[in-house]
Amino acid sequence: MARTEDDNWDVTESVGATALGVAWSRAQENASECPLFTDPHAQMFIDAALARGWQLPPAYMLERIRSITDYAASRTKWFDEFVIAAGANGIEQVVILAAGLDARAWRLPWVDETVVYEIDQPKVLAFKAETLRANDVQPAARYVQVAIDLRQDWPKALRDAGFDDTEPTAWTAEGLLPYLPAAGQDLLFERIHELSAAGSRIAVESFGAGFFDGDYLASRREQLRQLREESGADEEENVFDVEDLWYAEERTDVTEWLTGHGWEVTSTTAADLMDRYGRAGAAESAGTTPRTEFIDARRVC
Ligand code: SAM
Repeated sequence: MARTEDDNWDVTESVGATALGVAWSRAQENASECPLFTDPHAQMFIDAALARGWQLPPAYMLERIRSITDYAASRTKWFDEFVIAAGANGIEQVVILAAGLDARAWRLPWVDETVVYEIDQPKVLAFKAETLRANDVQPAARYVQVAIDLRQDWPKALRDAGFDDTEPTAWTAEGLLPYLPAAGQDLLFERIHELSAAGSRIAVESFGAGFFDGDYLASRREQLRQLREESGADEEENVFDVEDLWYAEERTDVTEWLTGHGWEVTSTTAADLMDRYGRAGAAESAGTTPRTEFIDARRVC
């Protein structure tokens, strides 16, 4: 489980399986009575992974995922709105970093001529393409896979795939940053900045001040331990936590960095975002609202 500098994964293992966790959560939202968004593809990914022999995480882990379903749904909705607004503002080039099983290229109403580049590890994107092909689903924009690790020279791979750095781009970084070391996060933003023509936009789920605080992480672990205890899980069974895959390091403040590099930034806390979508209540009383921020920025110079 320990992370290494050049680790790689399939969608059913290590960091790859977190994409299935998000897909599971989106499938629950899609099947709910009043979903914030529709994503029929999420269940396709879960079914395909199960058919490959993947097993759903233990009940206590599903309970943890369920406990942050309102967060995950609000996050999905916010990124949906971001890319739609970027298109309405004339941006026709979109890069989804660490796309995982994000189905936006298939499910959103894209402006004509939009090209969506998705970057993630090769085996994750291969699984995704295979599943969508098997379900005969077509993208709603021009879709280009860029199968490469974000710790490698992905700007070259992106350019080789047709990306044009003279055109404004809409970038998204959702569910990504904790899986990169702090230095890797810095390099990621330097590269994005270099590739961004004026007018580009970026949406980031940021794990800023206080997220990697020891007490906060300990309280998250305690919540998980309680869920595990309540579910009656086997005492001997290893407690798996997504935190084991994170680089729990204090990071550069994304808002400050972008502001200092000529981007106009607005940011919203997770609590405010969930409130906006009417999804704050349960997480607030359970104390499970993540300490994240949602950053929306536009490069002005
Ligand atoms: N953004 C997607 C979403 O919200 O549905 C997926 C989020 S999932 C929690 C994390 C994703 O980040 C996985 O698909 C994983 O493969 C990808 N990822 C993490 N580190 C990566 C890296 N160094 N290079 C490429 N992909 C990476």
